[in-house]
Amino acid sequence: MARAIRKVAVLGAGLMGSQIAAHLANVGIPSVLLDVVPKEPNEDEKKRGLTLESPEVRNRFALGALKRLKELKPSPIYNPEVVGLIQPGNFEDNLAWVADADWIVEAVVENLAIKQDLWQKVEAHWKPGCIVSTNTSGISITAIAGKNSPEFRYHFLGTHFFNPPRYMKLLEVIPTPETDPSLVPFFREFGERVLGKGVVVCKDTPNFIANRVGTYGLMMTLHAMTEFGLTVDEVDALTGPVMGRPKSATFRTLDIVGLDTMAHVANNTREAVSDAGEKKAFEIPPYLQDMIQRGWLGDKTGQGFFKKVRSEAGKEIFTLDLASMEYKPRAKAKFASLEAAKVLPDAKQKLRALVYGQDKPGQFVWTVTKKVLLYAASRAAEIADDIVSIDRAMKWGFNWDHGPFETWDLIGVRKSVERMRAEGEVIPPLVEELLAGGHDSFYVQEPTRTLYFSLGSRDARGGAVGGGRLEAGLAEVPEDARKISLAQLKAQGKVIKAKPGASLIDIGDDVACLEFHSPKQAIGADIISMLHYAAAEVPKNYRGLVITSQAASNFCVGANLAMMLMEAQDDNWDDIDLMVRQFQGAAQVVRQMSRPAVVAPFGITVGGGVEVCFGGDRVQAAAETYMGLVEVGVGLIPGGGGTKEMLFRALEGVLPQGALGGGSAVGGAMGSAGPSMDLQPLVNRAFETVAMAKVSTSAREAQALGYLRSTDQISVNADHQLWDAKQTVLAMDRLGYTPPRPRQIPVLGAAGRAVLELGLYNMKNSGYISDHDEFIGKKLAFVMTGGNLPAGTLVDEQYILDLEREAFLSLIGTPKSQARMQHMLTKGKPLRN
Ligand code: NAD
Repeated sequence: MARAIRKVAVLGAGLMGSQIAAHLANVGIPSVLLDVVPKEPNEDEKKRGLTLESPEVRNRFALGALKRLKELKPSPIYNPEVVGLIQPGNFEDNLAWVADADWIVEAVVENLAIKQDLWQKVEAHWKPGCIVSTNTSGISITAIAGKNSPEFRYHFLGTHFFNPPRYMKLLEVIPTPETDPSLVPFFREFGERVLGKGVVVCKDTPNFIANRVGTYGLMMTLHAMTEFGLTVDEVDALTGPVMGRPKSATFRTLDIVGLDTMAHVANNTREAVSDAGEKKAFEIPPYLQDMIQRGWLGDKTGQGFFKKVRSEAGKEIFTLDLASMEYKPRAKAKFASLEAAKVLPDAKQKLRALVYGQDKPGQFVWTVTKKVLLYAASRAAEIADDIVSIDRAMKWGFNWDHGPFETWDLIGVRKSVERMRAEGEVIPPLVEELLAGGHDSFYVQEPTRTLYFSLGSRDARGGAVGGGRLEAGLAEVPEDARKISLAQLKAQGKVIKAKPGASLIDIGDDVACLEFHSPKQAIGADIISMLHYAAAEVPKNYRGLVITSQAASNFCVGANLAMMLMEAQDDNWDDIDLMVRQFQGAAQVVRQMSRPAVVAPFGITVGGGVEVCFGGDRVQAAAETYMGLVEVGVGLIPGGGGTKEMLFRALEGVLPQGALGGGSAVGGAMGSAGPSMDLQPLVNRAFETVAMAKVSTSAREAQALGYLRSTDQISVNADHQLWDAKQTVLAMDRLGYTPPRPRQIPVLGAAGRAVLELGLYNMKNSGYISDHDEFIGKKLAFVMTGGNLPAGTLVDEQYILDLEREAFLSLIGTPKSQARMQHMLTKGKPLRN
């Protein structure tokens, strides 16, 4: 029978164990979470009359972890309810629970003896065949299972999640020579499809791939900082986004990770490696040791390389001056070459400008980059099956934009190697072979595939993970078949129609994809006209439509606010009215199209972005989708059909079929066919969501808020989202798609509106909302209760759309709403006026 993971036992309820359990719960997998029993009740427990026999005391660590899961920021959980899938317990009373698990994952303290001892105890309860794995950061996997039976070791491997597990893409999977080989592809599939991770298979060597190379890079940065006499602020300016690294650069990252954790990983490598030069590289500099001794470990102790200080200006961030060990105001790095590099158009030019710069920053960046590239190349065959795994590990585990071998290609392999040779560096055989083979780069981009330089004979496992060898040294980069690249399709000439802000692309199997790529992914004329074009084109020549984007990290920030404001300030009311009509119309024509349309949002999806989702028959959201109708924040109400749709979604389905008449825009009052249930709470809820501009922290929460339906689907792996959406389109088409029937709902009328207005009045009197908030709220209430119609009147969508548009137009004309729009555009946050 096919293997499946339906229930998990997580051993260790610390930072990682609890968050691994949380992520399993996010994707619907229940788990038990066990930890040690405390030695004695603490003061608080004693006061409450609890003893060491009380389950509350015995399960204290797991129970505490569950509580923290709801408080941690960024949140490890998609919504608070998922925590209910985690059953707390302890190793002494509940270890037998592991017998029910399909996978047991251990995340207790990084100590070999403790891990070995626990695994021996687990084996007494283990159900033969169950997968067993450790989340160690770097201890030998073989050693951890060293005291277990061969049968147990056959099912044992490393599964190394990165912190925080919900958000970090990398999952390192580390088989030992004794591991059942079939577990590796199984875990790759489980990790990618179910948990949404990027899986990299590693060899069982100290700290595996990402921490080995990443920590080496950090150490080189620390050493070079001293060599070139740079400050903490200067190094962060040089090692951040300009180099394709995260904003947190070197020292903010260290403060987040914790200096002790980083030192632990470095020491672990230093002790485990035999090469004297490598040992030296992992030596912790004296100032870092000093900081660890003082307890300046970073964010968790309130200070590290940076510290929040109260000053006259409010809270300020100070930087540690390593010479005096005092915190001083941040001093911005002033390097002409850095400023020049920042404005260059692409990563290649930026990197080249920095690395080959002749000034001090140039020499610093060159030194660090050179060391990391040489290290990655010299260790590649020892730690990985191929260079692709190393590049992916660094991108997914350390958030680098380019892995070391991709970086090498960007700065030019021949050019940089010449300089390295001139500086007396030993060039690793892998690089010598590459150049001797006549290759100029580690990767070769072809129209439909990418090739990479294989590790060849030094590859202990014999060959690449992907397709077979092609020619001397080259192999095909293995790509997940569920990853559709719009950039690649465009390069292959699959564009049906293109405008600067949006394109329609043929994504195969007779499915078209409308991609947003306007500035900031805002909805303007291009997107609106492309929606209309797609609604006409798709029914003629395609089986269905997907609406998404791969051009940015967010789906859509809403309508083009700047354009709207400009028109309003020029009193161009007719133009605004037309724009709103066209946007409302675009969502409507997509809905009414005779072919299925699936919208695939991700990241920030607000305002008009949500309204585009409402136009689809189905949404295929990325798990990390932050949805909200936030128009109130800019002094407006949703005007592209969002208000109408929230109302219809709140009330649809409450009417018996007989009451759903077609025909006139405004139907008669509900007669005996109408339900007797109270509709007010349903409308109140939708009203509150819009009036408070609630934004979800995940796609799951968007379902709870009513922005997504329970039938909408979620892709945990963002790389699979477009493929998933396409499958949904094809499935709907195969099942015989028919467009949704026109809907009608009964309105609440004046009495219902009075209830909403009373709520607003109370909020204003208690100081929660401003006069203008109340004014906007009243407009929203008017639309959501059906305007001036008597309670129970049946209305169709166009009727509410017209009310919505009128309210939108009246609000955009007010100076206070315009001030809110202006503030958002200039300051990037809402103004409460
Ligand atoms: P943690 O200190 O937060 O949690 C460790 C847990 O182990 C605690 O809940 C503790 O009660 C338990 N424990 C302590 N002594 C024990 C004993 N004698 N027997 C059994 N359990 C005991 O640590 P963490 O950061 O969650 O790390 C757990 C594992 O994950 C380690 O192997 C670590 O190297 C690895 N890891 C950590 C990170 C990270 O960023 N923190 C990232 C990846 C992997």
